[in-house]
Amino acid sequence: MQNNSKNGHKHHGLGSPNKIKVLMYHLITNDKKLCEKHRNIAVHVDEFRSQMEFLDRCGFVTITFEDYLLFLEGELNLPKKPIILSFDDGFADVHKYAFPILREFGMRAVLFIMGDRKIKTNSWDIPSGVLQLPLLADYQIIEMHDAGFEIGSHALTHSMLTHIPREKSWEEISRSRMLLEIFLNAQVKSFAYPFGSVDATLKILVKEAGYKIGCGTYSGPPVLGKDPYEIRRILIQGQLNTLQFALRVSSPYHFLEWTWWQLKKNGLIKSK
Ligand SMILES: [Zn+2]
Repeated sequence: MQNNSKNGHKHHGLGSPNKIKVLMYHLITNDKKLCEKHRNIAVHVDEFRSQMEFLDRCGFVTITFEDYLLFLEGELNLPKKPIILSFDDGFADVHKYAFPILREFGMRAVLFIMGDRKIKTNSWDIPSGVLQLPLLADYQIIEMHDAGFEIGSHALTHSMLTHIPREKSWEEISRSRMLLEIFLNAQVKSFAYPFGSVDATLKILVKEAGYKIGCGTYSGPPVLGKDPYEIRRILIQGQLNTLQFALRVSSPYHFLEWTWWQLKKNGLIKSK
């Protein structure tokens, strides 16, 4: 895939696939208290709107991983400034608040949802004290899928895959893909590791289950395409001002963040 990406880039002479940023959101809400309490998962709808306005004004065009894969196969040209927006967990509020704004700007996104469609709330967040909120109903997912959104798997039940037996993680990975494909009547090509928890074996399982993309959070190389099974994403926290958002979208951010994590990993910077 690495070679393809390089060749593809040369052939098309458009965009710059290794500069594509993948942003990660969870919940978009109008609940100010929730935003203050859980900055890592909740972004206020007004902030989200200004962020989309900003992207639009800067000439960014949203693509999905499916588009990116088509580009690697030489089937699709990329826009000049592509960006991927991803939403983890499939909160119902994404349909209520983010979807209308994205539509307004002609944008699309990637939703990572649970393969087990019986799960109705973010029960995995209970230990961290996050309020229980409704997840997307099936019809809402279908509506967004029909609007060109990509649906990826976030495992069956949002288990910490590095902490359960391998047979269980295989089930979480492969069965969720199968169930979502039946549900959507479409191929599911991308996977996001719950809690961003990933290791070398899991990456192999994700590949063997037929996915083309595996999304991490704080791990993976800073360049998209270097490791398609551990794609680094940029968490968009709540309460960012425009400058902070602009910095996250700008090219060197991935490298700065990556360097910081390397230093931290090697004990050169103390964790908070
Ligand atoms: Zn998640």
